[in-house]
Amino acid sequence: MSDSIRPHTIVIKVGSALIAPNGKVDKHHCLPAISHYINQCTLAGSRIVLVSSGSVAAGKYLFTQKTPSAIVKKAMAATGQSEMIATWDSMLSSPCAQLLLTQADLQLNSRYINVKSTIYELLDSGIIPIINENDAVVSEHLEVGDNDNLSAMIAACIHADTLVICTDIDGLFNANPRTNTNATLLKEVDAITPNILDMAGGSDSNVGTGGMITKLQAAQKATDHGIDTFIINGMKPTSFEALLN
Ligand code: GLU
Repeated sequence: MSDSIRPHTIVIKVGSALIAPNGKVDKHHCLPAISHYINQCTLAGSRIVLVSSGSVAAGKYLFTQKTPSAIVKKAMAATGQSEMIATWDSMLSSPCAQLLLTQADLQLNSRYINVKSTIYELLDSGIIPIINENDAVVSEHLEVGDNDNLSAMIAACIHADTLVICTDIDGLFNANPRTNTNATLLKEVDAITPNILDMAGGSDSNVGTGGMITKLQAAQKATDHGIDTFIINGMKPTSFEALLN
């Protein structure tokens, strides 16, 4: 399909804290509003690619280890991944497909082209690609490591128009809002300067792996490719109402 007649394409990244906040998929907390947003977008003719975290978090409840080793986390990912996909499949009005990727799939040209062509084919067929890192098998030197950066890489690969990163806070603050009551939300950022990067701390979520810094890295990658990026609070249905409006 030529770029001029391509429908609006949105990559939406959903973090682990929204999918499995307590070591198990929670279908009732945040997922209804997120699914409603995706369903409304597809109904309006947009094409959606979902980058979903949560495999490790969703598989946790079946394992007894309090501090799981790397291999136990891989086993959790293998378990939780199927539960997470089944959940999306039951909540989205379009059929879903699963793609599990590693950094290598986005580095080697022939694989990169396959990733892009498969996603286009799925979108052309009205199917929502659901992407995650292949956590069950990936090794440290071959991983992207977080789904914020992965979602930006995918958005660039398929020439998406918009990247929406759903997290558990309202967006970028000038200080950590969990520890600093004076922190102010920056509603719009024109350029991601070193000063802006300094405002993001590390991950303080005990569920996912990212944090604001990986979201800003993702925003930088995406906006470098001309892709508008939104970092929104996926726990608040009003965030999705605002996006739809
Ligand atoms: N791929 C990881 C998972 O599904 C999540 C990575 C992230 O939180 O960014 O558990």
